[in-house]
Amino acid sequence: QAKARGRGQMTVFSLEMKQETQRRVAMVNLGRKAVESDSIIPYYQLQVSLEENRPIGFEALLRRRDRQGRICAPSSISAAFEDAEVAEAIGDAMLKAVLADMQMAENRGVDLGTVSVNFSTAEFRSATFIDRLTNRIADAGIDFSRVMIEVTEGVFLGRPADSAAQTIRTLHDLGFKIALDDFGTGYASLVHLRQLPVDTLKIDQSFIRALVDSKDDLAIVSAILNLGASLGLNVIAEGIESEAQLSILRGLKLRYAQGYLFAHPVPIEEAFALALPWQTQGHARDQAHGERPGIHKRMIG
Ligand code: C2E
Ligand code: MG
Ligand code: MG
Ligand code: MG
Repeated sequence: QAKARGRGQMTVFSLEMKQETQRRVAMVNLGRKAVESDSIIPYYQLQVSLEENRPIGFEALLRRRDRQGRICAPSSISAAFEDAEVAEAIGDAMLKAVLADMQMAENRGVDLGTVSVNFSTAEFRSATFIDRLTNRIADAGIDFSRVMIEVTEGVFLGRPADSAAQTIRTLHDLGFKIALDDFGTGYASLVHLRQLPVDTLKIDQSFIRALVDSKDDLAIVSAILNLGASLGLNVIAEGIESEAQLSILRGLKLRYAQGYLFAHPVPIEEAFALALPWQTQGHARDQAHGERPGIHKRMIG
């Protein structure tokens, strides 16, 4: 009887595995098709300085236009980021689009500040990653220092950590800024932080979510902020949605913030609207305590 039940479970289990595999293959195909049909679009989410009460830049977040014209989140093709070849094609399409937007900003006299771009571990580990990245950006005539490379601590896993570290050092020496994304959820962070030219830690939104009710999350966020301060790193909290979260974070002396409370990820035209007031009249407005159209009222302080 036990044996029969065991066999039954095996069947269910392998069926689930098969379905999971099919789901992943479908995602990889969707990712490949998105590149082929030119359907990879960057959205941009505002990042702000809480102390200076102004935008500091934008994070480029991948969106995919499906066949019905709907805009889909990256989770709809998450498996594609793990397939080395498709991840590379998606990353290249995304980077091209971001650079075109940065050029358009420049032509219009809009300063987007630092633009952060996410790279999957598979992309980052590619032997040709740095060459392709630098060629693209140099061809676009964009300064490396205006680009922040976001990677997760996953880049340090499963292979000699030295090569990931070496890539980060090379990128830093080339003038790029480096951010460790989803910080606190990864592995062996402290060792790498001490040794690497990382500029920014991004506190994962899972710690921000329950900040108001969870003493543990409060302790973790506080520890990351202290760590950042001691090591001379910028710390940005992502996923800030409420005034209550923001007020706790201000109390902990957080300096940089990102989240729906300030702005959702938006298409480039709307990002221009968020950046423009800062560009053309930001300081005058700050002094006059005037309204800034397009920026959430939280920014006025
Ligand atoms: P991430 O880099 O940690 O990006 C932050 C995610 O949180 C984004 O989801 C953003 O839309 C979302 N978010 C921002 N503010 C809030 C908030 O206040 N509340 C909540 N609940 N969520 C917020 P998105 O755009 O769906 O991206 C998810 C993940 O997909 C990213 O996490 C990143 O790991 C990955 N990703 C995005 N774009 C790219 C890309 O171009 N290349 C690669 N390789 N991965 C990307
Ligand atoms: Mg990110
Ligand atoms: Mg993150
Ligand atoms: Mg994430």
